Amino acid sequence: MVLLCFVLDDFRYYWVHRFGHRIRWVWASHVNHHSSQHYNLTTALRQTWTGTFTFMMVVRAPLILLGFHPAMVLFVGGLNLIYQFWIHTEAIGKLPRWVEAIMNTPSHHRVHHGRNPRYLDANYAGVFIIWDRIFGTFVPELDSEKPDYGLVQNIGTFNPIRVAFHEWVGIWKDVTRRGLSLKDRLLYAVAPPGWSHDGSRDTSEAIKAKHLARTPEDKGTPGFT
Ligand SMILES: [Zn+2]
Ligand SMILES: [Zn+2]
Repeated sequence: MVLLCFVLDDFRYYWVHRFGHRIRWVWASHVNHHSSQHYNLTTALRQTWTGTFTFMMVVRAPLILLGFHPAMVLFVGGLNLIYQFWIHTEAIGKLPRWVEAIMNTPSHHRVHHGRNPRYLDANYAGVFIIWDRIFGTFVPELDSEKPDYGLVQNIGTFNPIRVAFHEWVGIWKDVTRRGLSLKDRLLYAVAPPGWSHDGSRDTSEAIKAKHLARTPEDKGTPGFT
């Protein structure tokens, strides 16, 4: 029962995390897990301060409605986070093939933290990498391309308050801009990060497309399919 709850909760984690990268409002609280330009165990501890504002807890409701005790749901969610601690390391290369096939590993999660165009929006897994394989977001770490860690546009500050709130401030500034339609204001909060009403910024799709325009031979390789 606990095992089933753990697996279903990991499925929940995958989607919450995926939304966390594709909806700016949710990204605003997840971004501080990604703003470090280093990749080590302390990165795992950079967890959101503002997650309560994003209402993603509601995604736990189905598990409770299925009959799992709320305490068990929170417990397995905690186990999930603990599992993710050890994968934040460069000290472990690739693990045996069956492990890399099923589990989220340091190699898979390095890709998730990479800002290389190839590695954007990949490997949202918590514990099991199978969700990425099923839903088409899996990108393997290539020996020929080391992940470059951090954000597409790095913040350049170590101030924890600035780190925790900069994206929220950005959303506020965009949503309250003069002369925008209501739809544009809404999209500044819920469209993928990098969306802009005038196309002046790049989403991850735009970054990938620009990369392919420069480097057409990458077409069809991992991350560009
Ligand atoms: Zn993430
Ligand atoms: Zn991480």
